[in-house]
Amino acid sequence: MPPEALRCKECRTEYPLEARYVCEQCFGPLEVRYASRAGLDPAELRRRIEAGPYSMWRYADFLPVEHPHSALAAGWTPLIRADRLARELGLGELWVKNDAANPTHSFKDRVVSVALARAQELGFTTIACASTGNLANAVAAHASAAGLESFVFIPSDLEEQKVLATGIYGTNLVAVRGNYDDVNRLCTELAGEHEWAFVNINMRPYYAEGSKTLAFEIAEQLGFALPDRVVGPIASGSLFTKLARGFEEWIEAGLLEGSLPTFNGAQAAGCSPVATAFAEGRDHCRPVKPETIAKSLAIGNPADGPYALDLARRTGGSIDAVTDEEIVDGIRLLAQTTGIFTETAGGVTIAVLRALAERGDIDASERVVAVITGEGLKTLECARGTFEAWEIDARAESFEQAHESRLGAVAA
Ligand SMILES: *Cc1c(COP(=O)(O)O)cnc(C)c1O
Ligand SMILES: [Zn+2]
Repeated sequence: MPPEALRCKECRTEYPLEARYVCEQCFGPLEVRYASRAGLDPAELRRRIEAGPYSMWRYADFLPVEHPHSALAAGWTPLIRADRLARELGLGELWVKNDAANPTHSFKDRVVSVALARAQELGFTTIACASTGNLANAVAAHASAAGLESFVFIPSDLEEQKVLATGIYGTNLVAVRGNYDDVNRLCTELAGEHEWAFVNINMRPYYAEGSKTLAFEIAEQLGFALPDRVVGPIASGSLFTKLARGFEEWIEAGLLEGSLPTFNGAQAAGCSPVATAFAEGRDHCRPVKPETIAKSLAIGNPADGPYALDLARRTGGSIDAVTDEEIVDGIRLLAQTTGIFTETAGGVTIAVLRALAERGDIDASERVVAVITGEGLKTLECARGTFEAWEIDARAESFEQAHESRLGAVAA
């Protein structure tokens, strides 16, 4: 099913498969349109997938690139049955998709792989992005692996771990005095002036397709079956809506039976334009100024907000927001029940999962997947102050003393 055109999501005007992202007729966003899959044999499609590499490129039949390849292979991350977490929350069948297990430790390796492969096909030699952090890591790493020049624009107040884990790749790292929405505005202007492939601006239609592979993997790892419910984070809303698109494409292709899962979106209360619009029954988001520890989700003016709202509503889901304190509790809960240490965005997802469970929104018979999108070592600061180490002398006696007083403290 080769890609055939870029198409406006609003007025359906079509454009060639170039580096463009906005409709000239109505300013709507463009997305990739594929040739019809009608008449293809699902069994043959499945065989092709199963014979593919153990990376996201096994789903190349559903991606907008001619040469499905990347120097740094992303995807095929673990889907883990989380029984201890399920018990803690009073849920039935719960799975955690751990996308921190990617080359640069977030799901952004998927979107960058597709955008970069397509950019190379279009002849670009310089890759760029406007990032909330994880995209910076991924663009810098994948550009270096492919031998391309890169420019990475970040808000200057980003977590130090994310800055360090980007600069090390030898990219041109530009720290902008402003928030992500300022960075994005600046980069949109620069994209008009430089012959660069901005992965999430002029390459956005291709970039967005990469997120579908997360849905494909979940379905394949469940034995070519659908979950009943998906809980995932929302920044711009691209990942959230493309997860649904992935399931839809496989249902249309005959690879999956059933209907779309219920979609629950997760935002931080300090940057919750989509959750707020959901609660107020609006179709559009009012831009906000972000103020949260979940910096990777801190987009105050989310491009795919209206589509995320529509998805949550038409699948009987919701979009919820949680406080910074609940985010840290979510990180600890996941770590202490699954052994997975996630970054703040994952804390947002687990905190919303907990809120849904406590509200009684999730039936015990449901198969639920929580999408963990990033790695805890990149937002280490939130672990500070959540526990205390025992400091002792290097003598057994000193240990026993500490042990005893600890036991005493627990008993008291
Ligand atoms: C970018 C990002 C997201 C979601 O981004 P969208 O803009 O909504 O696609 C989620 N989690 C992490 C860790 C991210 O870096
Ligand atoms: Zn249009």
